[in-house]
Amino acid sequence: MRCSQMLLVTLREDPAEAEIISHKLLLRAGYIRRVSPGIYVYLPLLWRVLGKIMHIVRTVMDEAGAQECLLPQLQPASLWQESGRWDTYTQGEGIMFALKDRQERELGLGPTHEEVITDVARNLLRSYRQLPINLYQIQTKFRDEIRPRFGLMRGREFIMKDAYSFDMSEADMKASYDGMYRAYCQIFERCGLDYRPVQADSGAIGGAGSQEFMILAQAGEDEVLYTPDGTYAANVEKAVSLPPDTVPSSFTKAEQKLTQNTPTIAALCDGLNCSPTQVVKNLLYQAILDTGLMILVLVSIRGDQEVNEVKLSNEISRLASDFGAQQVLKLTIANQENQKQWASRDLTWGYIAPNLPEDYLKSDPQIHPKFVHLCDETVVKLANFITGANEIDHHWVGANWGQEFPAIKTSVDVRKARPGDRALHDSQQILHSARGIEVGHIFQLGTKYSQKMGATFTNEQGQELPLVMGCYGLGVSRLAQAAIEQSHDEYGIIWPPTIAPYLAIISVPNMQDAQQVKVAESLYQELQKAGIEVLLDDRPERAGVKFKDADLLGIPYRIVPGRSLAQNKVEIVTRNGRVSQEVLVSEVADFFRTLNP
Ligand code: ATP
Ligand code: MG
Repeated sequence: MRCSQMLLVTLREDPAEAEIISHKLLLRAGYIRRVSPGIYVYLPLLWRVLGKIMHIVRTVMDEAGAQECLLPQLQPASLWQESGRWDTYTQGEGIMFALKDRQERELGLGPTHEEVITDVARNLLRSYRQLPINLYQIQTKFRDEIRPRFGLMRGREFIMKDAYSFDMSEADMKASYDGMYRAYCQIFERCGLDYRPVQADSGAIGGAGSQEFMILAQAGEDEVLYTPDGTYAANVEKAVSLPPDTVPSSFTKAEQKLTQNTPTIAALCDGLNCSPTQVVKNLLYQAILDTGLMILVLVSIRGDQEVNEVKLSNEISRLASDFGAQQVLKLTIANQENQKQWASRDLTWGYIAPNLPEDYLKSDPQIHPKFVHLCDETVVKLANFITGANEIDHHWVGANWGQEFPAIKTSVDVRKARPGDRALHDSQQILHSARGIEVGHIFQLGTKYSQKMGATFTNEQGQELPLVMGCYGLGVSRLAQAAIEQSHDEYGIIWPPTIAPYLAIISVPNMQDAQQVKVAESLYQELQKAGIEVLLDDRPERAGVKFKDADLLGIPYRIVPGRSLAQNKVEIVTRNGRVSQEVLVSEVADFFRTLNP
């Protein structure tokens, strides 16, 4: 491609709309244009990058035995009602774009495709002889993200590869899952990325185990906790650890004390001269279930620890069936402001006890009449602890479960693991923190969708059983930007050669110089014949401008037919590290042939 003929508009200044470097560079180098928040044009250069990524994805997926197909983006509400996800995805913080057709039938624009693929499976997969099957597609997904930002990182319209596996048993499904895990590793390696698989929360997609593939980068929206021995890495949403040891309580007698102005743990510990590890902190959350019912959840956790709201939401979803519901739609911490929605009178904020009287709750059919009390594991073994007394400026000290407060029947892990905590697998190992960009997420779905939607097969013994599923997402457009976040310098993008839009650019320093132009033209032809993807910068610009643009665009190799032409040589500058070497004009094609990117 000749630069004189291509749409090449680069900006010298950082665009105001971008916060992170990869987004700035994509805009400055003319890879994308924003049309509306979270909605972008993929300009020709980016489209080539996406093409490279999609080609790698297809090659690896095909090698792994998956088959490509294309599912509809317009999906009938009825399928999502069968799986029970229509309300979760369209109400509250739901991210599905929903619409009505001319016959008033409801449709959604596909944010993901479990329902559609399960519908395909129930119609076409009947016998164990057909299994296993793995189908994938590469397609635009639509999600009405609450905060679309960072360019392609969190778009409202973006490209995803999603795959779905169908097996006869859990064990077979795990084998399919492991196959996809290996495929993902290969994809990211071939894309030239430094990635890390981590344990992950399964979120609204559901299912048992799941792992995310993270590109480590400071701008990542996710926090990863890992141990230096390389055995453990998890998204902080999912991470587990050993909490710091408890300092034994110095209170031996149970009594209520006047503790003026101690609504925070810090103030309380100051006032009582005690450790926060001796305190039972009681936090209230309001959860809206998918039936519309509000339940007030009282969480008791050790004073020095924080609640992980993802774990908490999962715990409440697990209890949802007790309330005739399936899951939590929305979870928010309760406080002075929002108590009006459900409280019959003001709570004693900052002084709440593990036994909050029920008459604080308004009588309302939409509000569950009892507090649901969840105890984090960290409070189970506390003795002679300090906690609120349901009275302003008052706390209990020296309190115990089974005495001042009801005995704990079951406990849960809703604690946020933190860097510095000891690891569960080896208490010598300390958790460290890193930022990551999630580019892939694989799930062991199990029979969640097949059971709800009646996707069954007949096994060898003639029994009818639900298909066991896995699903595997990979953010193609997010990956392109994550690569830049991981690989750039002060001059611009440094594409890994395998996903660069072009491998080389011939930058002609002076278009008035007949010899430079002649050598450039003949190299351009020769390289193209050799199958090397090459740009020819034949614009009537100054050399400095061309070199700057080549660096900004991130083309892995710049070929300069300049001064060294006197020795029949051109300069080849490697973008990564900007190292320069002189190569005989006659050997340039061989130079690229032997690169083998
Ligand atoms: P996130 O936690 O970042 O919102 P997710 O858990 O919703 O992502 P999945 O449903 O697992 O994501 O989707 C599979 C992949 O699609 C993700 O790993 C990510 O790479 C990509 N992806 C998800 N949402 C977006 C988005 N809004 N813009 C671009 N890529 C996305
Ligand atoms: Mg995720």
